[in-house]
Amino acid sequence: MSFAENLDSIQQRIAAACARAGRAPNSVTLLAVSKSHPPETICTAVSAGQLFFGENKIQEAKAKIPLSPGKARWQFIGHLQSNKVRDAVQLFEMIQGVDSLAIAQEISKRAEQAAKTLPILLEVNVAGEGSKFGYAPEKLLAELNELNALPRIEIHGLMAIPPFAAVPEKARPYFQKLRELKVQCEQILGAPLPHLSMGMSGDFEVAIEEGATIVRVGTALFGERVSSLRKEAE
Ligand SMILES: *Cc1c(COP(=O)(O)O)cnc(C)c1O
Repeated sequence: MSFAENLDSIQQRIAAACARAGRAPNSVTLLAVSKSHPPETICTAVSAGQLFFGENKIQEAKAKIPLSPGKARWQFIGHLQSNKVRDAVQLFEMIQGVDSLAIAQEISKRAEQAAKTLPILLEVNVAGEGSKFGYAPEKLLAELNELNALPRIEIHGLMAIPPFAAVPEKARPYFQKLRELKVQCEQILGAPLPHLSMGMSGDFEVAIEEGATIVRVGTALFGERVSSLRKEAE
């Protein structure tokens, strides 16, 4: 299947999930997760009409973004280390996956130096997995006002990567949990948060039924990622 065919099929599935949930199809942004794919692939994707791309490594993004079409718009979806924040602020129009006050402070500081204000999403470890990044819900609620007071970031919502499940339905309770947590955050902030970034290739339809506004889809659009090991062998 070509990228354009994959894109068409994913867009139809997004529209169908929106219809089931009584939502407008344009209430969901498809973020194409292009990690491990070269600039030529971004070019093909942009030609097919895809505009939003997600990357999870700064080094890779730094090499790729300047070689990609200027129309492409980039969001960071990985775990950010403080020594990479300066680059992230320059490369991306939104940083998902912010999971500590320290990193949020660093983003705000670097954004100020770049004369910018940066939208961010706060990452939540919805299943309390030891192996995953993200805020514990209680900690997020406790730090929310302090995060919100930072001058150069705008909190646009929440993001999560639930445990991998072969059956998409299994992720539903985690998507519900993130949605409920967003309501709690909105009560604390006294303002609406526009975004819930949840759902990947295997479960984006369930995520949309539960309120996702950004779905992050890699494999279902681009095919399997070539592992770095195979790349070295080639
Ligand atoms: C790689 C990645 C995705 C995309 O995963 P697929 O299963 O290939 O769709 C989504 N979100 C994050 C944070 C990722 O790192």
